[in-house]
Amino acid sequence: MDLASYADLAIELVNTQDSQADNLRDLDALRELLVIRPHLGGRVSHRDLDAMRELRAQLRAVFVSAVAGDEEDAIDRLNSLLMHHPVHPQLSGHDGLRWHLHLNEGGSIQDRYAAWAAMGLAVKVSDRGLDRLRICRADGCERVFFDSTANMSQRYCSERCAGRPSVAAAHHPSRTSARAAIDTTVPAQRRSSQPDGRKTEARDGGQ
Ligand SMILES: [Zn+2]
Repeated sequence: MDLASYADLAIELVNTQDSQADNLRDLDALRELLVIRPHLGGRVSHRDLDAMRELRAQLRAVFVSAVAGDEEDAIDRLNSLLMHHPVHPQLSGHDGLRWHLHLNEGGSIQDRYAAWAAMGLAVKVSDRGLDRLRICRADGCERVFFDSTANMSQRYCSERCAGRPSVAAAHHPSRTSARAAIDTTVPAQRRSSQPDGRKTEARDGGQ
């Protein structure tokens, strides 16, 4: 079992909201989020929905602090989530599945989701570094993601967003060159082994 892969739960939950839409607006939306994870689901109530929205805000705050360079705050927030949603690991073999680990059999939907999401994110951060947590740089996009590129060059959540600034460049050249100037600051120190890091930057957005 790759615990770090459960960081995707955190990312997926945070990305149910952006500046245009809230995709966790009702119980059906919550059921949809949980449908492929029956071990996290069950009967859902409005209380669960509110709790999951709250968890979403708490997880986003980890990304916001990390992106702002406030390492201490990001780690405090993540530790707080780990503390409030402790794991109680159990081996389970239901429904003809081979023995597999459940982190938390009891508790609310939020507790179970948070236990996986926070654990996944914590393992990922400890394996790869807090500075790989990202928020998409494209205008109007607030999606979060984990930068897995070798030279830490991913700036956009997707190919689609990576393509958008070039459209903006045609209309607002000065603005986009300011953005490019910012973009070069971080990877510059790490680019020695990959001199063409900037070229891959806009292409590394695939999810
Ligand atoms: Zn984006």
